[in-house]
Amino acid sequence: PFEVLVVGGGPAGAAAAVYTARKGFRTGIAAERFGGQLMDTLGIENLPGTTYTEGPKLTDSLKAHVGEYDIDLIDLARAVELKPAKDVGGYHEVVMANGASLMARSLILSTGARWRNLGVPGEAEYRNKGVAYCPHCDGPLFKGKRIAVIGGGNSGVEAAIDLAGIVGHVTLIEFDTKLRADEVLQRKLRSMPNVEIITNGQTTEVLGDGSRVNGLVLKNRANGEERRIALEGVFVQIGLVPNTEWLRETGLELSKFGEIVIDDHGATNLPGIYAAGDCTTVPHKQIVVAMGEGAKAGLGAFDFLIRNEPA
Ligand code: FAD
Repeated sequence: PFEVLVVGGGPAGAAAAVYTARKGFRTGIAAERFGGQLMDTLGIENLPGTTYTEGPKLTDSLKAHVGEYDIDLIDLARAVELKPAKDVGGYHEVVMANGASLMARSLILSTGARWRNLGVPGEAEYRNKGVAYCPHCDGPLFKGKRIAVIGGGNSGVEAAIDLAGIVGHVTLIEFDTKLRADEVLQRKLRSMPNVEIITNGQTTEVLGDGSRVNGLVLKNRANGEERRIALEGVFVQIGLVPNTEWLRETGLELSKFGEIVIDDHGATNLPGIYAAGDCTTVPHKQIVVAMGEGAKAGLGAFDFLIRNEPA
C-alpha cells in the first residue's frame, strides 16, 4: 500500500508525486497514459523559464524527474472505481480496469480533461496543423491570419475576443440560433471590427491542402445550403470534459460540469483526498497552472498525513 497514490500522470500528477516523494512518503502514480495531454501537444511556448519545448519532450523530462525519486510509476493503468476510506486516516481503494486494487491513505486525483471534438472529416487529420483547441497556447501562431472559432458559449466568445486582438480576422460560428455567452462578452465581441458572427451554422468539414488547414465547409442550418470559407485556422471551443466519469456516485463532490470541487489547499470534500489540474474546478486549464496545483495538492496531502495517524 501507498501513503500517497496519484491517479493521473499529466503535469499535475507528476508535480504532486515529486512533492510527496520529497517529503519521504511512499508514493505511487497510476496513469492511463503518462504525460496526458502533453502527448497530444506540439509546440509549448508559455511555460515560464522554457522558451520553447514540445509535449513529448516535456513528458520525458517529467518522467526523468519522477524517476529521480522512489516513486512507483504504474503506466497504462486506468482507474475505474474509487472506494473512499470509511474512517479519517484509513485506506482509500482505487480499483483499476484490470481488476487490481491500489490502496493509499491519501489520494491525489489528477485525471485531467479532454477537449470535445467536432467529429467532422478533417478535424483529426489537421489537428496541430491548423486545428487548435487552446487559444492561450496557439493563438500567436495565427498572427495576422484568418481563423474560425467554433462555439458561441463563454469559452468560444472569450476565445474569439482574445484571438481578434492577434489574428487578422475571426469568424465565430454558433450551431444554435443565438450565442449562449454572457451578454457583456457578446457586446465586447460585436464591438470588434475584424469579427463576423454566424449563428445557426454547422461546420461539416475542415478542409486542407494535405499539410495545413485552408478552409472549412459551413452549412446554413436554416436552408441547408453549404459554402466554403477560406481560412488558416480553426479553434474548436465546444467544451472541455473532465475525466471524472469514474468518480460519480462516490460521495466526492463534483461541479455541474463534472469537475472535482477543491478548496484553496487542493482538498476535496473527502478527508485525505486531494485533486489538481484540469479535472478540478480551478480556472484556466494550462500546464503551468496544473503543475502549481499539483504541488499544492502534494503539500495538502503532506499536511493531512502528518496530522492523521493510520486509522
Ligand atoms: P492531463 O494532461 O489531461 O493528464 C491527465 C492524466 O490522467 C493522464 O496521464 C491521463 O492518462 C490520466 N488519466 C485520465 N483518466 C484516468 C483514469 N481513469 N485512470 C488513470 N489515469 C487517468 N497548455 C499550456 O500551458 N500550453 C500549451 O501550449 C498547451 N497546448 C495544448 C495543446 C493541446 C493540443 C492540448 C490538448 C492541450 C494543451 N494545453 C497547453 C493544455 C495542457 O496540456 C493541460 O492544461 C495540462 O496537460 C493539464 O494537466 P493535467 O495533469 O491536469 O491533465
